[in-house]
Amino acid sequence: KKRDGKNGALLYHPMMQDHTRQRAAIERDIESALEEDWFEAYFQPIVDLEGGRVAGYEALLRLEHPTKGTLAPSDIIKIAEETGAIIRVGNRVLEKALANLVELSEATGDKDAYIAINFSPLQFEHTLPIRLAALTSRYGIAPHRLVVEITEATLLHDNPQIRTILDEFHRFGCRIALDDFGTGYSSLSYLNRFPVDIVKIDQSFIRSLSAEEPELRHKSRMLVEGITAISHKMECSVVAEGVETEEQRDILRQFGVDRGQGYLFARPQPIRQLMKTLEKSHQP
Ligand code: C2E
Ligand code: CA
Ligand code: CA
Ligand code: CA
Repeated sequence: KKRDGKNGALLYHPMMQDHTRQRAAIERDIESALEEDWFEAYFQPIVDLEGGRVAGYEALLRLEHPTKGTLAPSDIIKIAEETGAIIRVGNRVLEKALANLVELSEATGDKDAYIAINFSPLQFEHTLPIRLAALTSRYGIAPHRLVVEITEATLLHDNPQIRTILDEFHRFGCRIALDDFGTGYSSLSYLNRFPVDIVKIDQSFIRSLSAEEPELRHKSRMLVEGITAISHKMECSVVAEGVETEEQRDILRQFGVDRGQGYLFARPQPIRQLMKTLEKSHQP
């Protein structure tokens, strides 16, 4: 049976129809999540490799769906960026993350730990710094405890205001982390052109530190050591992402990497759960 109309063609491709339907479902989930307050900011500790103290947390978006369970950001972010919902989603995560930080600080007594929040390029408009300033002051969080995580995509984005916005963040006291470092086109040049404070070495490099293949293992060790040295020369501190084994941690420490983040230390989790984990790790 044939159909006319410009959407008719879609009906003849089961895969595409599936995809379209899935996508529509996610779009609806995002709207419901905003309305029903299903978005959460999970926290993952970022740990000093020397001494093992928790220096801060990265806030990672989760959608706690009442029937589908917990949805990870991979699908949500992309679709939210395409529909424009990312602005509202981003604001929601931001509020959750700051509220969680206040609660966690009260529970642990650590009033210094920082919170690192991921930003999509689309969130970078000129009112962002002033809105962030207002939010941190509303939550009573010192600006230096806020780390803005961006990727090369934000710096590549054809936005002449980027530099100004980043400078404003600095003036106001918060720090800027360059995420997924080393995976993009010209990572090093960004250290030169933008005011970056923290370099986050992508987890793909950390994974190959303990690769089976000796050549790959050797080369990635040289790379991680080199990236760390260059970042330190540029007066950036260095965080390694995706640290899963003690071997990786020991190598990173030996190379002078400042902090690590990964399943070895803790998974991203709701702060209630994190409070229990942190309590346990303080017990003898
Ligand atoms: P990312 O910023 O690079 O975050 C690190 C990702 O690595 C997280 O995935 C985290 O759960 C995962 N991870 C942490 N430790 C380990 C480990 O030891 N091993 C492995 N295999 N993975 C580890 P997640 O939570 O699924 O987030 C994926 C990406 O989604 C993030 O990558 C970030 O780019 C984006 N994202 C997350 N939350 C937000 C948000 O609130 N806003 C925006 N714009 N993007 C977000
Ligand atoms: Ca990140
Ligand atoms: Ca990353
Ligand atoms: Ca990543």
